Amino acid sequence: MQKGKIGVTSENLFPIIKKFLYSDHDIFLREIVSNAVDATQKLKVLASKGEYAGDVTNPKVVIKLDKGKKTITVSDSGIGMTSEEIEKYINQIAFSGANEFLEKYKDDANAIIGHFGLGFYSAFMVSSKVEIISKSYKEGAKAVKWSCEGSPEYDIDEAERDEVGTDIIMYINDESAEFLEEAKILEILEKYCKFLPVPIIFGKKKEWKDGKEVETDEDNQINETNPAWTKKPVDLKDEDYRNFYRRLYPMAEEPLFNIHLNVDYPFNLTGILYFPKIKNNIEVQKNKIQLYCNQVFVTDSAEDIVPEFLTLLHGVLDSPDIPLNVSRSYLQNDSNVKKISSHITKKVADRLNDIFKEKREEFEKKWDDLKLFIQYGMLTDEKFYDRAMKFFLFKNTDGKYFTFEEYEKLIKENQTDKEKQLIYLYANHKDEQYSFIEEAKSKGYDVLIMDDIMSTPLINKFEQKFSDKKFVRVDSDVIENLIKKDSEDKEGLTWEQKQELSPVFQAVCPENTDASFIVDFQDLGENSSPIVITRNEFMRRMKDMSQIQGGMNFYGDLPENLNLVVNIAHPLVKKIMDDKTKKLGGKIEKLNEELSSIKAERESLEKAKKGKKDEEIPQADKEKLDELNAKVAKLEETKRNKLSDFGKKNKLAKQMVDLALLANGMLKGENLDKFVKRSVELIK
Ligand code: ADP
Repeated sequence: MQKGKIGVTSENLFPIIKKFLYSDHDIFLREIVSNAVDATQKLKVLASKGEYAGDVTNPKVVIKLDKGKKTITVSDSGIGMTSEEIEKYINQIAFSGANEFLEKYKDDANAIIGHFGLGFYSAFMVSSKVEIISKSYKEGAKAVKWSCEGSPEYDIDEAERDEVGTDIIMYINDESAEFLEEAKILEILEKYCKFLPVPIIFGKKKEWKDGKEVETDEDNQINETNPAWTKKPVDLKDEDYRNFYRRLYPMAEEPLFNIHLNVDYPFNLTGILYFPKIKNNIEVQKNKIQLYCNQVFVTDSAEDIVPEFLTLLHGVLDSPDIPLNVSRSYLQNDSNVKKISSHITKKVADRLNDIFKEKREEFEKKWDDLKLFIQYGMLTDEKFYDRAMKFFLFKNTDGKYFTFEEYEKLIKENQTDKEKQLIYLYANHKDEQYSFIEEAKSKGYDVLIMDDIMSTPLINKFEQKFSDKKFVRVDSDVIENLIKKDSEDKEGLTWEQKQELSPVFQAVCPENTDASFIVDFQDLGENSSPIVITRNEFMRRMKDMSQIQGGMNFYGDLPENLNLVVNIAHPLVKKIMDDKTKKLGGKIEKLNEELSSIKAERESLEKAKKGKKDEEIPQADKEKLDELNAKVAKLEETKRNKLSDFGKKNKLAKQMVDLALLANGMLKGENLDKFVKRSVELIK
């Protein structure tokens, strides 16, 4: 027997392994099994070159659990190691600056293990002793046994092993007893080893017999050695892609499309990405992509490898060139990773463009499930935005789809306003904005439907990109103002007339709602609705954005601002104006006369005051002015009250406002009930 000391520069290696790698103990098995797979594949290569004459046709890696001895054994039929090789590969883990590096990356087990090639030593995270029994493929090689108890000392001795290959025997320590559970081992193997290229065997297959689960003679193979992504796309049917998706995500809905990636220059990358149906809640759907390195599962957080929006995709990426063993910050600055990331982005866009060009009908059918992903990409990735402009689709309220370019052509003629701005009309709810949509259509306008959480940010983006294009929601103003075509404004009311009509309608606006109403008057033509309720586009968009982004709460907290536009050309409105003159005419005139004489008096006093210093103005004049101001205020209030009272009693006005609210889906509860009762009364 030979004794020796493991060649580490730091005596503290073992405590460090145990202490710092604490967070991710599961990976010891991944490391040991991957080494076994590597050794198996190496032997196959040697055999193919004629350097090994033994049988390599049915290789496998077998994992055995012995609860009594508290061991896990991983056995392979790979190249094995001679005692010199053990000395070289296992004992001489020479590295420099160990402590410094370990300190830096102490929270990142993957980084440490990868950096040092410490894969094998990760066994000591869970073991009090590890043995290697190995027989090299080399002719005349004798089997050797290496044994180490987690201190820098090891023993090396001759051993018994008939076949070429290696057993790694891990004596599981007391703190790690959980790894002596079959279910735990299965879980780890399922996670990390399910697509390894050599059969991984753990126990025997079980079956149900007479109500009991019994073992069969058949090996329980954990993995699929040739997963879909390692095959050529020509050898795969749609069904194969679907089956593979189900293997990855047994519970998920069918995906929409897939992309098979296969790059070998300037980096190696294979994989299959799937486009899932994306629902409005995108957060929960992120980070499902599994990253592999030569078929060994490494992680399912791909967010440092691909642009954020692509983390919405599902599937597998496999690349030996992604330095998965390094720390996050390193990864984000790695030039290979950057290349890979932009390559994937391009491939995704190309694939979508191909489907769009070749199968437009299918693409349109799936658009509603795909659009959140595409829009999210356009909003967060400039390169993707540029590419996506070719296949991004607008959908109008008739359910027709248009590319950006097609739509521009469609509306160019009829929807350009007098400022040469192209106006895109949109609705976010077909039913709630029905009357506005109809109104717009009657003018020959087209209305888009933009109804998802990305709509408002995307509209903002389009407007930033194209200064000659403007988006307005159909209910943000009366139709004449949405697309202003001629410069002459129709004759409206005088300021005084507005002052007198405003309180009448203000009095019938609903009070018990969160919204606040501003009364406005416009000539919309006698055939349009008597009253239209509109929402200011700017304010509404700010509110929408504040909901998405948080922050901007100034807008989020404001009450909803609605415009109550009274159509002064409508016969019913005219009737109210006439009624008002009939009922209040004399009284209001009298008040007006009184007001104007007081105002005249006030004006002359103001004039006399002008240019004088305060102490030069006679006290009597000052008092007089105060008195006049008070009188004006009082008279105006009286006038307003009279008009307001008139409005409140005017069932027609109330009915008209309620009808406008009803058309907007805003008449609810008590107000709706009152409306119904009043309607019955009116038609009695
Ligand atoms: P890495 O695999 O990153 O090189 P490890 O510490 O996991 O680092 O392994 C060190 C070396 O030991 C391997 O490169 C390999 O040469 C040898 N080795 C480990 N396990 C086996 C095995 N099961 N069969 C043959 N050689 C092995």
